[in-house]
Amino acid sequence: MHASAQLLGRYLAELAQVTDEPGQLTRTFLSPAMRRANALVATWMRAAGLVTREDTVGNLIGRLEAPAAPHARTLLLGSHLDTVRNAGRFDGALGVLLPIVALAELRRRGVSLPFAVEVLGFSEEEGVRFASAYLGSKGYCGQLRAADLKLTDAAGLSVRAALETLTPTAQSFVLPRRAHAPRDLLGYVELHIEQGPVLEAKKLAVGVVSAIAGQTRAKLAFHGRAGHAGTTPMHLRRDALAGAAEFTLVAEALARRTPGLVATVGTMSVAPGAANVIPATATFSLDLRHPRDVVRRSALRQLRATVARIARRRHLTFTWTPTQDNAAVMCSPALTAALTASVRAVQGESLALPSGAGHDAVVLSALTPVAMVFVRSRAGLSHHPDEFSSPADIALALEVLIDFLARLARTHTS
Ligand SMILES: [Zn+2]
Repeated sequence: MHASAQLLGRYLAELAQVTDEPGQLTRTFLSPAMRRANALVATWMRAAGLVTREDTVGNLIGRLEAPAAPHARTLLLGSHLDTVRNAGRFDGALGVLLPIVALAELRRRGVSLPFAVEVLGFSEEEGVRFASAYLGSKGYCGQLRAADLKLTDAAGLSVRAALETLTPTAQSFVLPRRAHAPRDLLGYVELHIEQGPVLEAKKLAVGVVSAIAGQTRAKLAFHGRAGHAGTTPMHLRRDALAGAAEFTLVAEALARRTPGLVATVGTMSVAPGAANVIPATATFSLDLRHPRDVVRRSALRQLRATVARIARRRHLTFTWTPTQDNAAVMCSPALTAALTASVRAVQGESLALPSGAGHDAVVLSALTPVAMVFVRSRAGLSHHPDEFSSPADIALALEVLIDFLARLARTHTS
């Protein structure tokens, strides 16, 4: 077991060297480093006894058949192999490498599972290259659409053109069908670093995700009237930025008094944008998340009313443009109960926590029941080179997954 944990540490360190930008870790969809990462991780999959292939969107798939039951259903385990720019080494990679080592450890112990397992290294989750997330898992689940293929990167290359470089024959790219029918699957389990501070505050190495928060994003603007900062009396002003500032504080107060709600105004631009001119326009973003859709929608209604009220009182006009709306994903009660039992067995206690960030599990949930385990992140830091999860925490997560697979094997009926 100790040797397996060490092997996992070596894999994480070695994969962190595979980058498009020397001196920092950056791997984006279908980049040269992603091609090398797939080749490297495939050698580790094969060493663990998996049969490897790549699908037409660049996902790496390692499959282990159930020797005694050739028609058994399949358990999916995985995460993404792409990264943000100047990333840490754990985000995504941990959820691909840890299952490989867990399966190798089971093989070493002579344990064979009564179900098939697929370890998935998704080719795109972070949305860096094409400003659209989940292209890998969407491809795997048959959810890519023609519109996705038309997105272009900074060099003007389309998703379709990038994907066509994967197929050596000069065939044009065909939208992939889902990799499995739902009835052939047992579910999808993703291990991921928490990327937040909750487990650290609770002094726990791992926790089980209860739900993945639903998310609303919108672009808002207040429009008022520019004027001279020295000669326009306060009561005659129509200051768009003052309205946006008021909205930001109302959103913050609403989130503070609503358990589980997070609200963020993350961008703001002001026009004309001069120290001695009253702002005529303030354009800003809203990001609103909650693990329960009813709570998020209620907050959304209140904030829309707030915008209208502020505009009325300040004699402004406003626009509200929705840019994203994702429903919350509830994790599978059965898989989550088994994971919780494994966490209790290994760690002594378990903690259920919602995920505020989106993950590949969001996309997979349309295909099969999903569940997630979080591993403690030092200082909650992620998407940063100082991202860190300790070897001891990772070893514990490895034990949890091995216990979970053995537990699922005991209760499995095909
Ligand atoms: Zn991730």
